Amino acid sequence: MIIDDHNHIWIGQATGEGWTSRPLTVDSLLSAMDRAGVDRAGICSLAQDIQNEYVLRAQREHPDRLLGYCFVNPRDKDAPETLRRYLGEGLVGLKLHPRLHGFPLNAMRLVDPLFEVCREHRVHVFAHGAGLEEFNPPHYFEDVAQAFPDVTLIMGHMGALNEVDDAIRVASRNPNIYLDTSACDLFGVQRAIAALGAERLLMGSDWPASDFRLELLKIELATEGHPGAFAQIAGGNYERLFLGNL
Ligand SMILES: [Zn+2]
Repeated sequence: MIIDDHNHIWIGQATGEGWTSRPLTVDSLLSAMDRAGVDRAGICSLAQDIQNEYVLRAQREHPDRLLGYCFVNPRDKDAPETLRRYLGEGLVGLKLHPRLHGFPLNAMRLVDPLFEVCREHRVHVFAHGAGLEEFNPPHYFEDVAQAFPDVTLIMGHMGALNEVDDAIRVASRNPNIYLDTSACDLFGVQRAIAALGAERLLMGSDWPASDFRLELLKIELATEGHPGAFAQIAGGNYERLFLGNL
């Protein structure tokens, strides 16, 4: 089964620029998945405009295809309650975006209550973790991973581009950190596989930032000659880690 862990859906008034330049509908996502042969996709809304209700509806309409994450801004006082409610409704994990929501990932007073809810519900956390950004460097992931060793944490973008080696080091020290391949270059993915083994990476397209066909080709080239490694990154790891809990 091909599973891509990181994608976005959003509807609303298009702004003409950036991520909200056009609606990111469920139908357009599913068509892109079908063109590439992707079976299931992790989805969340946009940090710019959180739409957990749309994500929940999408998951309910396509339970065999879509795995919805609850997006919250930890600075919102109701965030733990919102998270608890949506996990109770069936969403599969928490999505955080430290840079866009302006909080350091290791601001424990803010994130502690959210990780507690995830621990309680036995779900994982997916946090944006692109490189050279003030609020989400790899060592902040280490701080929360060590505070919550029983909560699985996915580092979105695996520090790409310029902190990939730090991300690999942090993942090597913290077995509950997994790396999401979106935005990472081929060489970075190859280095991560060599250092950590294929079992610590998850394929992510960050659709519509990338196309599933492109991401699949990247994973294919990064694991050339090792079909078992391809199967792990392109779905097997996600299935092993998370689908058993649902
Ligand atoms: Zn994303």
